[in-house]
Amino acid sequence: MDKTDIKSLTADEIAEELSALGEKTFRAVQIFEWLHAKQVSSFDEMTNISKALREKLDNKFYISSPYILQKLSSHKDGTVKYLFDIGGNTIIESVFMPYNYGNSVCVSSQAGCRMGCSFCASTVDGLERNLLAGEIAGQVYQIQSDTGKRISNVVIMGSGEPLDNYDNVLNFIKIINSDKGMGIGMRHITLSTCGIVDKIYKLMELRLQITLAISLHAPNDDIRRSIMPVANRYPIDELICAAKKYADVTKRRVTYEYALIRGVNDSRENAVELAGRLHGSMCHVNLIPVNDVKENNYIRSSEENIKAFASVLDDNGIEVTVRRRLGSDINAACGQLRKRYKDNRGV
Ligand code: SAH
Repeated sequence: MDKTDIKSLTADEIAEELSALGEKTFRAVQIFEWLHAKQVSSFDEMTNISKALREKLDNKFYISSPYILQKLSSHKDGTVKYLFDIGGNTIIESVFMPYNYGNSVCVSSQAGCRMGCSFCASTVDGLERNLLAGEIAGQVYQIQSDTGKRISNVVIMGSGEPLDNYDNVLNFIKIINSDKGMGIGMRHITLSTCGIVDKIYKLMELRLQITLAISLHAPNDDIRRSIMPVANRYPIDELICAAKKYADVTKRRVTYEYALIRGVNDSRENAVELAGRLHGSMCHVNLIPVNDVKENNYIRSSEENIKAFASVLDDNGIEVTVRRRLGSDINAACGQLRKRYKDNRGV
């Protein structure tokens, strides 16, 4: 029988497992604390659990633990990029970002991605596999332990489409939020999606206080379809409508991410159209100067264009910021490190 990753289970799920093993369920919280507060990597370290139970657990479960393969530190801004081996030759990347309001980790939710956005390095080789909740949490724990700095924010914005790995990502959010583990507040968690509309509605029902970020990247369906295949499944108006309802129900402002690509989506006309589409939404637009990716020929918009684009939105009453480009000296953007490592190693 294949073993289950116990680190991917919530405390309630561990309790169910214990009761199936004929054990006392109050032990679930103790085990959860070992895994997610003390962050041990073996059952033997769980010293308040009897040896007999530790053996039982060891027979049925394992504890996933990403191993640091490579680490690159930016000399410009303190960003650290991690490449992890999570076993079976599966490689993922995560980023540590120090901000003045707290330290943040950007986690991957999948190894690779099947969404096919044309500007993104994570999707070039397709989806390798979904990550388990414990493997997503492990990225945060390893980075906290390696940097020695408390992590207060988590962004699910690394490789992969989190809403294409819905159940595991949801368990991750519950686990990282639990006060028996790291206790990261819901408002300190951001989930970024390319816009899988039915899953946005499903998430909305849970009324979590997390921030929803939507990768919009275009003011209309024509442009969006030319760079994001997911736009063929969900028209932009349906996506924006879902985002508006999400904001209404959760009372949380939605963030739209918009990567500016020269000559593709960065004209004044594009900005005017976007402003019109978002008019009346409780939202915030984050403009991202696109990062170069070897596999495509996209060029970042000029500084003047970025400023002009931002002012059109601002003049139309839409809140807008331009993302700082962290870690630009270490390939910290969007799946580039994993891709380069895999290419060099031929894995
Ligand atoms: N699949 C999710 C999360 C991963 S991508 C999503 O689509 O949101 C995280 C963010 O990085 C997205 O906004 C994505 O569009 C953006 N991104 C990907 N490649 C990029 C690039 N080359 N330059 C700038 N932003 C990029």
